[in-house]
Amino acid sequence: MLSAPSPSISFEFFPPKDDAGEAVLWDAIRRLESLRPDFVSVTYGAGGTSQDRTVRVTERIARETTLTPLAHLTCVGASVAALRQVVGLYAASGVRNVLALRGDPPGNVGGAWVAHPEGLDHAEDLVRLVRGLGEFTVGVAAFPDVHPESGGFEDDVEVLVRKADAGASFAITQMVFDADTYLRLRDAVAARRDLPITPGLMPVTNFKQVARMSQLMGTPLPEAVLRRLEAVSQDPLATREVGVQIAIELAERMLAEGAPGLHFITMNRSTATLEVYQSLNLQPGSPSGRAGLVERSEV
Ligand code: FAD
Repeated sequence: MLSAPSPSISFEFFPPKDDAGEAVLWDAIRRLESLRPDFVSVTYGAGGTSQDRTVRVTERIARETTLTPLAHLTCVGASVAALRQVVGLYAASGVRNVLALRGDPPGNVGGAWVAHPEGLDHAEDLVRLVRGLGEFTVGVAAFPDVHPESGGFEDDVEVLVRKADAGASFAITQMVFDADTYLRLRDAVAARRDLPITPGLMPVTNFKQVARMSQLMGTPLPEAVLRRLEAVSQDPLATREVGVQIAIELAERMLAEGAPGLHFITMNRSTATLEVYQSLNLQPGSPSGRAGLVERSEV
């Protein structure tokens, strides 16, 4: 009899701005590598230099670590020719897993989306493009609290169905602070397509940071979470403790309800993520097998 697959575990990083940030990032990557995650991902910035850094860091992960990278890629400010070129760079360094995103208008997350005149309008178009360029496993974004521009929950479900039909094989959500909204989306999509949806989990270590992020995303923190964090907002150590505890509770609930895994938004730090991970008593697994990503490809 086959044993039940262990949950897929992954870690998200962002491209560092300078050498000091790069050192912090690599320290986190090395510490988290020992947990043998299924994959690690690097977010894709809005501008040229930040995008170059994403490509460089992702390539270096592929080249110098045992980790399987998942490259975020957005349609922001890029023609189809430019997008093909980035995908080509990834392929050349053995990166075969892409998170296909639309992105937001640079410098104005809530602003009106305008596609590049020779670019793509929706993430589903990028899924199709990347799938058409070779043997890539493609993931997409999901929004349990409803994407701010969408017409509502049903529209979001429809968009995920379209992304699956375009060739996406999994989805990762925006950071989850309410397990019920995640489960509602997961179940509604599961009724229509086989698209595993992994919740994004961010152990809060800095109240101002998470409050700003949730405002930018257009999804306020749930009242209960806000109350717990506000009660300790003047005390950084207590904030961190409560933030980690909230993440543990969410992770336990979502895994108990059958979430396929957890995608940790690390903010390029390892300690809080390690604390949550260790409290869940998860066993380091056999990377990639669980998430269905392409482990590595020889170049
Ligand atoms: P889409 O799926 O294109 O959706 C955008 C809007 O258009 C939605 O309102 C949707 O309902 C609507 N829509 C979609 N398809 C259609 C259609 N065919 N017809 C009509 N309407 C449609 N941003 C970055 O810049 N870099 C990153 O690295 C990054 N990583 C992320 C990782 C995760 C896990 C998540 C959840 C988000 C990430 N984002 C990132 C943010 C993301 O780019 C934005 O939230 C963006 O606004 C939506 O991206 P999408 O890929 O879901 O776009």
